[in-house]
This record gives sequence, C-alpha cells and structure tokens, in this order.
Amino acid sequence: MRKFTLLLLFSLFFISGTNALERSTIHITRSLAYDAQRVGISQKTINNMVRIFSWKIDFDRDLERGDRFIVFGKRHATPSALIYVGKKKRVAVFSYTDKYGRLGYYGINGKTLYPSFLKAPLKYKRISSKFHLKRFHPILKTWRSHRAVDYAAEYGTPVYAVADGVIKHRKRMGALGKSVHITHGSNYLTVYAHLSRFSRGLRTSSKVKKGQVIGYVGSTGRSTGPHLHYELRYKGKRKNPLTWRLPKQKRVAKSDLKRFQKRAKFILRRL
Ligand SMILES: [Zn+2]
Repeated sequence: MRKFTLLLLFSLFFISGTNALERSTIHITRSLAYDAQRVGISQKTINNMVRIFSWKIDFDRDLERGDRFIVFGKRHATPSALIYVGKKKRVAVFSYTDKYGRLGYYGINGKTLYPSFLKAPLKYKRISSKFHLKRFHPILKTWRSHRAVDYAAEYGTPVYAVADGVIKHRKRMGALGKSVHITHGSNYLTVYAHLSRFSRGLRTSSKVKKGQVIGYVGSTGRSTGPHLHYELRYKGKRKNPLTWRLPKQKRVAKSDLKRFQKRAKFILRRL
C-alpha cells in the first residue's frame, strides 16, 4: 500500500513537472548565436549549447539553414533538455544533477557528450622534454620555452588522436615538421608534430575518433631525433599535458538512470 502511494505521488510529481515544460525552438537561418538571441535565449544558455554540442557538431560545417535547436524548460531557468535536430542527425542532452549538486547535460545513454581524453597519444619509451617555460634549446643554443611534451619513441610508432575531434591542419609547418592539429569540442586543440608521415585518407576537416591513428613518429622539421612533440591547448593557450585536468566523461548514477531515461523519453516524445 505504502509503495503504491509513493508511486502515485511520484507519478503526480513527475507529470506535473514535465507538463510545465515550455519549449523554445531556434530555427537556424544564420548561426546558433544569432538565431537563439532572436527568440530570447539567454547568452548563458547559448554559450552552454555551443560548448556542449561542439563535441558532436562541427558548427562550421555541419550546421545548415533549416536545422533546429529546441530548448525545453522555463524561460530564464536552467533548461531541462537541449536538442539539436539537423538533416543528418539529432543530438539530445538532458539535465541531471549529480550527488555533489553539480548540474550537467547527459545523453539518453546517461553519459556526457564529452569523452575522456587519452593520457598520451602514443606508446612511448620516455619523456624527453617536459613542459617548461624556459629551457636550453639543443639546436638553437638559446633559452626557449617548451609548452609541450616530447615523447621519445621509435621511428614509425603510431600516433593516436587523444579524443574524438576534427582535423584543423594536416601539413608541413616549419619547425614543427609534418604536423596534425585536431580540435576537440569548442575549447580544446591538440598538436602532434615532427611526424614521419600522415595516416592515409585523413585531410583537413576529416573527423577522427579517439585512439585513431593519425600519423607516425618521425623527425621532420627542427628535431634532433625521432620523437613526438605534443601540445594541448585550452581556449587557445598551451597547457601542460602531464598535469592538466583533462575532460573525463561522466555518467548518471546507476540508481538514477531509469528515472533519468524515463524523463528523457518523455521529452523526446514531445518533439
Ligand atoms: Zn617539443
């Protein structure tokens, strides 16, 4: 009996909670920021949407006129769901507050769109140079900063993308030699330099998966021997890849997953 009452109370709460959902639809004519502002979406929510969806949508290339973004939730409150409906795909995330009280957005599988990054982009022998603001450069014979990590490895060792992303550059770049730059979401960029060669089939704007081989260790550019020069940039600034707290994928707690998915399905049915 008690169980039934609880269930009834929960259902009433659940239904009234979701019935109250308002939605705003953003029809893309120019850009997310422009079109979202026109329908009164707050700057904070727009910024969140760009950050969250950048993990799955390349805003420069995937977004097309006629695509929609739908924001579920009361105006000026934190949205309960953010959904992208494009010609080629749909991406939906739902709000969830973890046990520390932190609100985040998770896919219907209960995982955040951002992945965990690999700690290192290759199997290396040793770290030959760490991240320094100043070091003596063996070729240039001067003190230089080295905002990167050098991994000594055999010539030809495969180099992996540390996370899903989009290739921004794949070319010979002066002192860096043959280099690959990959963007991950809107804030991260990784650089892999001195490669002996690139992986076949990859070009600028190709999408890559975490762990995918993008090239092979070499010594092209300004380099004294085979190694990988690896940079991690966050919002355009070089960070120490060995100490920076990398994105780590989060999951909805097991005990909450059923309820979370039930709510997500309820919202999706109203699309
Ligand atoms: Zn280096």
